[in-house]
Amino acid sequence: MAGPERRPNVGPSIRNLFQKVSAVYKVELVAPDIAAYRAGNTGIPYVTTFDSGKAGPHVMVNAVTHGNELCGAIAVDFLFKNKVRPTRGKLTLSFLNVAAYHSFDKAKPNASRFIDEDINRVWDVATLEGSRDTVETKRAREFRPAIDRADYLLDIHSMQHATAPLMMAGMLDKSVALAHKVGIPELIVRDKGHAAGRRMRDYGGFGDPHSPKAALLIECGQHWETSSQDVALATTLSFLTVLDVLDPAFAKQHQVEKSPRQRVITVTEAVTIETDRFTFAGPYTGLEMLGKKGTLIGYDGDKQVLTPYDDCVLIMPSRRLTRGTTAVRLGRYTG
Ligand SMILES: [Zn+2]
Repeated sequence: MAGPERRPNVGPSIRNLFQKVSAVYKVELVAPDIAAYRAGNTGIPYVTTFDSGKAGPHVMVNAVTHGNELCGAIAVDFLFKNKVRPTRGKLTLSFLNVAAYHSFDKAKPNASRFIDEDINRVWDVATLEGSRDTVETKRAREFRPAIDRADYLLDIHSMQHATAPLMMAGMLDKSVALAHKVGIPELIVRDKGHAAGRRMRDYGGFGDPHSPKAALLIECGQHWETSSQDVALATTLSFLTVLDVLDPAFAKQHQVEKSPRQRVITVTEAVTIETDRFTFAGPYTGLEMLGKKGTLIGYDGDKQVLTPYDDCVLIMPSRRLTRGTTAVRLGRYTG
């Protein structure tokens, strides 16, 4: 993927321009006040479980794993406000990184993704049971009993760039099958995680092919665009319907239009940043398909990062280009 050739003389001003062109997104959404959900009923702040009293799966819908991703909070708030209760099994509604969410500032909307570290990279047991003492590891440890109880998880996210919604299904067939049943959005991504640490979506039984548990992570669109809340809500209602825990009469009132055809992109690798100077070669926002093998994606320091095969698709290029994190994931259409 990397060539030995030197970086051409592209001044920082032009490189920065590429980053800035796509950097301006308006905050169209209003972050709901979630203070009423703090107490919950599970002993874990911001975690509420409704028990139908009937046999069935324990389904969890989670929001604000990243504090500046508002659509999930809007969807979970909607479920609370509409008094959605499971028709069988249990339904848990939760808000994960509430400290980050409460720091959300419309004037600096990128600043509140997390407080100390990304809470979606701490779900390795070694980290959970280790001594790292951050706002996020503490919250993950507090939250862990809730996630341990869930059979199915929908973790609602949004993206830095305004591109089509993506169902991040993971590498396991069981999650891809669930994504097909949910039926939206059009694009399903079979993805490996990140070198920086395990996501909640891949924790415990969710990441074990032999466990019946399954989790999905939905990327609903750009963080603050109105359409992301529609995607979040539609996906949530479809998820609950597919698992047969949603009152059909309620589902009927909020009919979800499924995608006529879903396509699968399989991620083959993540580009993990190795230097303090990573730049993209173009104003990539995601889902670009680069035709020829060896097309320049960007530079990691002086090293060229090239596409490893023809028709390589860029998945969620990051605007946080720091060493050890994922710059972009690479994939190809497989279905
Ligand atoms: Zn996120």
